[in-house]
Amino acid sequence: MLDKTGTLTEDRPAVREITPLVGEEDLLGAAAAAESSSEHPLARAIVDAATDRGLAVPSAEDFESIIGFGVSARVQGRQVLVGRPGFLAEHGVHLARLAPVIDQLEAAGRTVVAVAADSEPLGVIALGDEIRTDAVEALAQMRDAGLTPVLVTGDNDRAARHVAAQLGIDDVRAGVLPEGKADIVRNLQKGGTRVVMVGHGINDAPALMQADIGIAMGGGTDIAVESADVIIVRDDLRSVLTARAISRSSYRRTRQNVGLAFLFNGIAIPLATTGLVYPVWAMVAMALSVTTIFVNSIGGRPRLLFEAIGSVGRTHDREPEPKPVGGTG
Ligand code: ADP
Ligand code: MG
Repeated sequence: MLDKTGTLTEDRPAVREITPLVGEEDLLGAAAAAESSSEHPLARAIVDAATDRGLAVPSAEDFESIIGFGVSARVQGRQVLVGRPGFLAEHGVHLARLAPVIDQLEAAGRTVVAVAADSEPLGVIALGDEIRTDAVEALAQMRDAGLTPVLVTGDNDRAARHVAAQLGIDDVRAGVLPEGKADIVRNLQKGGTRVVMVGHGINDAPALMQADIGIAMGGGTDIAVESADVIIVRDDLRSVLTARAISRSSYRRTRQNVGLAFLFNGIAIPLATTGLVYPVWAMVAMALSVTTIFVNSIGGRPRLLFEAIGSVGRTHDREPEPKPVGGTG
């Protein structure tokens, strides 16, 4: 299961179209002020757009972030709301005049954010995000590995499908609330599916915890990183498959080692207890069994061992072997 914004798409969406009802500067200025305390990628894009246009962003008070919906804040005495259109509608903002524009922008695959001040709509801001360059290849590798990708997002259905189509993802769950992401994971698990969730935002944290394996992208929010089992430090989606490959080979070797240990002990302990082997040979067998397991653990590549010994206290001067990425719990 993959989150869209920031996981499959670049962390930095950009403001593409602005449709003001009154004035463009008022719309963008109010939105940027309300968003200035938010760490959501959409919020940063809106603030950047205002700064790029040289607008003086007024300060905001009583900032409140409603995860998965938007933000509210007091800006120059006005109560400003910025967020998904449905969120503003729930707060009594009449968006009828903007409905055709919203529809048209969403059809073009945009993420549409509506802005209102004192329950009066100011207009809409349309944002577009670029697919991460590594995402196409990562998705192809996931399919080759027999995994079924599912895109899950709080964004609108058409923006989600726009991204999914470019990546060849068939299963799309859009308009999902943060708690809904964890519910989707739970339902898949009930059907006997094992789920890996890849995300980065605060809204992904419950799903990251619910999933069999939660993977947080490096640049993710602290809570996402805390909730995950695996953290992708190098901000590259393909690392998900590297982590999988390392885990599979570690697990395979662990099982082989357990098998080897049982084999050695199964044969040698009965021989020793019956007095058929002399104690010194028991010691030799012990050393031999430990060495076998050790050699198997380093993949029959003693070179790795010498390199490890050689590199102690020395800094690497070349690309190191891929190592398991750090995790919590
Ligand atoms: P995703 O699941 O793709 O990471 P989110 O759950 O974070 O998306 O957000 C879902 C939707 O809620 C966004 O597409 C946007 O319309 C709205 N939204 C969330 N946070 C904000 C914000 N800070 N500013 C504006 N809109 C927001
Ligand atoms: Mg996200």
